[in-house]
Amino acid sequence: MLSDPTIDLCRRYTGETWAGAKERLSQLPPGSPLIPAAQGDQAFLEAQLLRALLEHPTTYTTRPLRIMRVIPYENRPVIRFAADADPDGLADLIAWGLFSTGGKDDLRGIRGLRIQDAGHGRIDVGLLESDARIRLEGIPEVAWRNAEARRRQAELQSGGAVPFQHRGPTPGEHAFVMEHGWFEDAWREASGLGSALLRRLLIFRSGADWLDMAGFTKHVNTYGFRLTFAESHWTDHDTLIGYLLHPVCGIALKEDMRSCACAFGERSCRVWFDGPDRAAGRLDVQFLSAQGGCEIAEYNQALTYGGSPSEEISRVTGCPPGAAVVCIPGCHGRHGKVGFLRRMGEGRCKEGA
Ligand SMILES: [Zn+2]
Ligand SMILES: [Zn+2]
Repeated sequence: MLSDPTIDLCRRYTGETWAGAKERLSQLPPGSPLIPAAQGDQAFLEAQLLRALLEHPTTYTTRPLRIMRVIPYENRPVIRFAADADPDGLADLIAWGLFSTGGKDDLRGIRGLRIQDAGHGRIDVGLLESDARIRLEGIPEVAWRNAEARRRQAELQSGGAVPFQHRGPTPGEHAFVMEHGWFEDAWREASGLGSALLRRLLIFRSGADWLDMAGFTKHVNTYGFRLTFAESHWTDHDTLIGYLLHPVCGIALKEDMRSCACAFGERSCRVWFDGPDRAAGRLDVQFLSAQGGCEIAEYNQALTYGGSPSEEISRVTGCPPGAAVVCIPGCHGRHGKVGFLRRMGEGRCKEGA
């Protein structure tokens, strides 16, 4: 029997709606984990998606990696991108972040990723020569069409192929495997952890009050999250670790090192984990704090510029959207985040023209 606290607990990890979570959980076979694990190619595709998202800069949004919800069906899970994600930024992510960029030495994107089907506000993507599928929601048609058009334009100049709906491997994808096939073997080994993290991504939001989350990957097998907090909203690392390792919805990670000065009243730390049961794959979580009031105000402006919901901006920064940046004494005075975002946006307009 499903209890309300069970549904609530699960939703903290997945961001599902109450009704959606209740429906999904009620259909699970008895004894199944609340967040089922993916296997084989399916896990590989999900881990590759996480890797691609961590590597593409998606900072200055209140949603972790722009994602607002993950519906963790065992097969063909659904990832919903936030409606506040700006469509241009989303097109950029799709064009250069998700699909392979086609060079023999180019690690970006997911080799063999193809659009299988598209519907209202969604695309279904899969991997060549496999049954692995993911439904990506919250993607307006204009966003993926623009992404495809940008790639077509770029490939016209370089003579490559656009992977989106290409049959079979593109020449670039083929060349990559010949040159760097071992990367894919290593990615595949660490894919159980990557998929498990993607399926629980929203715990990084509901379990910690960060201002900003940046992603990265390292050494082929490490998934990294760098969380920046306003002083007033510092989340103790043990709180988040508790959620990550939770016996019902968490992952049986093994903490292997902690370097932090929290006990001395300082605010920065870093915790590494190994995957469960010595499975390959590592998780690296970093906690930083923003330096002063003006830095927080700057994040506030960047989040406002990026279109995050006002109530979330107020919650994480402690002030309403569009706060003025008034420098604290001794500040370096270089606050260029919004300017940077604006230049990126203008660059995209030029590229699209
Ligand atoms: Zn610490
Ligand atoms: Zn300042």
